[in-house]
Amino acid sequence: MLKLDFHPSGRHFLQIPGPSPVPDRILRAMSYPTIDHRGPEFGALGRKVLADIKKIFKTEQPVVIYPASGTGAWEAALTNTLSPGDHVLMFETGHFSTLWKKMAENLGLKPEFIGLPGTDGWRRGVQPDMIEARLREDTGHAIKAVCVVHNETSTGVTSDIAAVRRAIDAAKHPALLLVDTISGLGSADYRHDEWGVDVTVSGSQKGLMLPPGISFNAVSPKALEAGKQARLPRAFWGWQEIIEANKNGYWPYTPNTNLLYGLSEALDMILEEGLDNVFARHQRLAEATRRAVNAWGLEIQCQDPAVYSPVLTGVVMPQGVDADEVRKRIYERFDMSLGQALGKIRGTMFRIGHLGDCNDLTLMATLSGCEMGLQISGVKLAGSGVVAAMDYLAKAKDTPSLKVAA
Ligand SMILES: *Cc1c(COP(=O)(O)O)cnc(C)c1O
Repeated sequence: MLKLDFHPSGRHFLQIPGPSPVPDRILRAMSYPTIDHRGPEFGALGRKVLADIKKIFKTEQPVVIYPASGTGAWEAALTNTLSPGDHVLMFETGHFSTLWKKMAENLGLKPEFIGLPGTDGWRRGVQPDMIEARLREDTGHAIKAVCVVHNETSTGVTSDIAAVRRAIDAAKHPALLLVDTISGLGSADYRHDEWGVDVTVSGSQKGLMLPPGISFNAVSPKALEAGKQARLPRAFWGWQEIIEANKNGYWPYTPNTNLLYGLSEALDMILEEGLDNVFARHQRLAEATRRAVNAWGLEIQCQDPAVYSPVLTGVVMPQGVDADEVRKRIYERFDMSLGQALGKIRGTMFRIGHLGDCNDLTLMATLSGCEMGLQISGVKLAGSGVVAAMDYLAKAKDTPSLKVAA
């Protein structure tokens, strides 16, 4: 067996913004024996997860589940709706929006990447007015789709998708709206139907608390219709055949049975807690984290409080401090993994994940590890972020108490 030498005692703190820690309840569910994927029990499992996942996307429309990472579901969203050479408008919010744009190029689309100057978009998210202005110019409707990232995991900025929808409508433009909420789903409020999203892309290993390996497309009737004309080659990713088989709870190929057991359990857990309570918990943990960062006297990567991410927080290092060195110290000394800064902002900050299976004390331990790591890295701190976060969490009104039966 593969021997991992680290994790000497206690639990490793996996505080990257995905993969997030997988709760024991889900790990146990995944250890059920693999069954016949054409047998009757499987159909019941398939029907259950396909029905329950819709509640998380807040949709009545089909949600297609792929045995693939989120990147596969990005490709599915593009190839099911577009044709070679199609013009798509994408907004630069960070590393993941950049990767999605590269994929569009690789598929033979013509992405137009708009955004704020420099790395401003990496600190403020999608600007719906810029999308509206660009669509108004496109009187010939050459732009076939607008693609945006809801929760930009590389920065900790959660853009306003309802406002993007309003911008497209205000410009009276027929483009499809494709949204990546790979790291937002199950952590941040998301409404596929109400926000008029045509394809929502998500994945398993972030807010859904599952291991990596399954991903999703929630699909609007307009996107399904567009699929009939779309000429990008697609085979494995094709929606029609999957949606047809899904009617009875099956797939046209071998699905990821054990991850679907896990998904079933994850959906039970989220729906038992209640989606609104899940979102409130994420907001509370994010607020506590930001209070810690403020007390340290450090900057938050996101500069617009209206779009602070409930999923993760980017902590910007003072000039001259290499964030990757700090992360390495924290990993080696405290057995905790933090997210590194990616792409254009590499080395400038680290990311604290506070998503999924995370509670007040998980977060306090995480912030303690960060504070000690910053201290031993020689970063001058204005005060204790740990104390600031504790003060907030102890008094936070929405902190739930365990109800113990008499
Ligand atoms: C994680 C992530 C991806 C990539 O998903 P993979 O599962 O690694 O393929 C894309 N977009 C966002 C916003 C993500 O957080």
